Amino acid sequence: KTDYKTFQSNISHKENKDINSIVRQHYNQRTHQSKLQGSRTRSPIYKMRNFNNAIKYILLGNWVKRRAPNAPLVFLDLCCGKGGDLNKCEFVNVDQYIGIDISDASVREAFSRYSQNKARFIPQNPQSKRSRDSRRYNFEACFATGDLFSYTIPEILEKNFSGIIDALFPVDAVSIQFSFHYAWETEDKVRTILTNVSRSLRPGGTFIGTIPSSDFIRSKILKKEFTEERTFGNDLYHVRFEQEPPEDGHFESPYGNRYDYFLKDAVDDVPEYVVPFETLRLLCEDYGLILKYKQNFPDIFNLEIPNYFSKLNKNLVDGMKRADGKYGVEGDEKEAVAFYIGFVFEKVGN
Ligand code: SAM
Repeated sequence: KTDYKTFQSNISHKENKDINSIVRQHYNQRTHQSKLQGSRTRSPIYKMRNFNNAIKYILLGNWVKRRAPNAPLVFLDLCCGKGGDLNKCEFVNVDQYIGIDISDASVREAFSRYSQNKARFIPQNPQSKRSRDSRRYNFEACFATGDLFSYTIPEILEKNFSGIIDALFPVDAVSIQFSFHYAWETEDKVRTILTNVSRSLRPGGTFIGTIPSSDFIRSKILKKEFTEERTFGNDLYHVRFEQEPPEDGHFESPYGNRYDYFLKDAVDDVPEYVVPFETLRLLCEDYGLILKYKQNFPDIFNLEIPNYFSKLNKNLVDGMKRADGKYGVEGDEKEAVAFYIGFVFEKVGN
């Protein structure tokens, strides 16, 4: 196992600076852009965003659990971005939230979103639309900027806070949504983030995430659905491999299998890496994390949405209404969401 304070990890951090800065720059830029863009409802991926959010509500709703009935519920959001999951934390009754991301612009945006909703006034009138859709946060939150694939959480938090935050650890749930795949460039990075997850979690706590499906990628290879430019996808999303993927779909090394990912109106050919799920599962065992749940997005939605339909925010549900009057994704969106899976691991012990 890696000792994260060694000279070795400092060297690899320097070597990895390139990809980190590409990713950081992309999310910094996106944060500024989305502020300027205004209405999100006109986005071509509006329905897909709502669908992905519904998936995260379901995953967190089913798997974030407090230690004991009166114990505070502490939630650690790794690669928290602009704080898109803060509403979900209110939904699952979190008491304390900690968000960390490498993009300083995103972290600032997350903090501002939190502050606005923390201070929000909710009219008590049950007829009022605002009271029904209210997003007032009843939890405390703190945010930090740092590279979670090269530094330990104590190292990151030390730079941002002074010791007081230690009392919040170990936490009940660690979440890493739509981000883990950036770490799969090297084994060192993956082990650093898994160390961060495992050391942060209490026994019985959950590690909840969403990543691209290696099974989906393999099936694209086996069905020969790649173009000559080593690309698959549709008008909404595409995946372009850096190297020709192996014909049998089994990559020589589980790390460093790079592709550029494009999602209309969201991600502009940003490099990410295949996450071979079986490698992830076995590595997690090394860190005392046992697989509890793994499901692709369409199945999560179809199996769980009946339980969540009445619980989810009206705007979110309305935002998934299809042309045929049903709810969910349609057309090109179907394949774009099938690219992802949700997973849950539990920290051993009791
Ligand atoms: N989790 C959020 C969500 O679901 O809305 C944001 C997901 S966004 C697709 C990916 C995030 O991963 C970005 O905010 C990016 O800055 C962050 N990220 C990428 N590499 C990182 C690293 N090494 N350390 C911390 N955050 C990182």
